[in-house]
Amino acid sequence: MKKILLGIESTAHTFGVGVVDENGNILANEKSMFIPPSGGIKPRDAAEHHALVAKGVLQSALEKAKISLSDISAVAFSQGPGLAPCLRVGAILARFISLKYEKPLIGVNHCIAHIEIGKLLTHAKDPVTLYVSGGNTQILAFVDKRYRVFGETQDIGIGNALDKFAREVGIGFPGGPKIEEFAKHGRWVELPYVVKGIDVAFSGIITEALKLWKSGEKLADICFSLQEVCFAMLTEVTERALVHCDKNEIMLTGGVAANQRLREMLEIMCKERGAKFYAVPKEFAGDNGAMIAWNGMQIFKVLEKGISIEESRIRPKWRTDEVEVIWT
Ligand code: AMP
Ligand code: MG
Repeated sequence: MKKILLGIESTAHTFGVGVVDENGNILANEKSMFIPPSGGIKPRDAAEHHALVAKGVLQSALEKAKISLSDISAVAFSQGPGLAPCLRVGAILARFISLKYEKPLIGVNHCIAHIEIGKLLTHAKDPVTLYVSGGNTQILAFVDKRYRVFGETQDIGIGNALDKFAREVGIGFPGGPKIEEFAKHGRWVELPYVVKGIDVAFSGIITEALKLWKSGEKLADICFSLQEVCFAMLTEVTERALVHCDKNEIMLTGGVAANQRLREMLEIMCKERGAKFYAVPKEFAGDNGAMIAWNGMQIFKVLEKGISIEESRIRPKWRTDEVEVIWT
């Protein structure tokens, strides 16, 4: 019998359920995204959304995969990092499935799941990873059994930065795709460029961008410049990490990986350096259950057992480099 893993994602805005088999075939990837009626994401409201949609998303994932819960080999969930009330919803559902159907329970690090789904789908072997999502912005590479963080944001994640700008100027959530649209018709206006070694910072840039907007600068021009400056910074630090780690592949993953301009800049840099460029397919760029199921599968194949309920406590601040990678 082929092993089948069910994965539950609930770290932030998205509640997702994915199903994968042991060969990495994705049998289902269902999700529902919480869109705040106004303002930013309030963790409790997002958690409420997750609890309300959980049953439906789970059901449609099982239908898509043509399985029932008794068919799965184990159940994986995003144990962290993320918003505690949201993490709890996924953890409780996973524990329930594990206890009721007597299936091993696997805790997955959300950031590592973004990397592993990227490697599965792009066939990158040993890349420097640029992981860009709502809450996270990290430049990572695999060294000595861990995904080490070579660079990261010193304040907010690039996705949250773009979302914040979009919210303040009233173009809605999620902001990244809206800014990408506006940017198509924009021209350059001056914004600060903030790189320190292999680290970046975005909040000062957002403050400046909002100042420009309030002073009457065209929205399209600010959106264009925001993308140019933030993505150039990310491209610069990724290039620096590539040289530092002496690798020859770059992989882009996380929700912001859906952005065409960011892909283009990285691709140009890779071409100039003779490095290979890989980007996760758009469907699997943002938070999703399939990536949790796949990393859960990788762990389960090695351990062939799960964790206890006590060990399944959520880990809102779990760092990528705390995880020992046992599956490669
Ligand atoms: P994640 O947390 O990985 O699900 O990523 C969500 C983030 O990706 C949000 O902040 C979105 O604004 C951002 N995002 C999604 N699509 C795009 C895009 N086309 N360009 C820039 N950012 C995007
Ligand atoms: Mg994410």
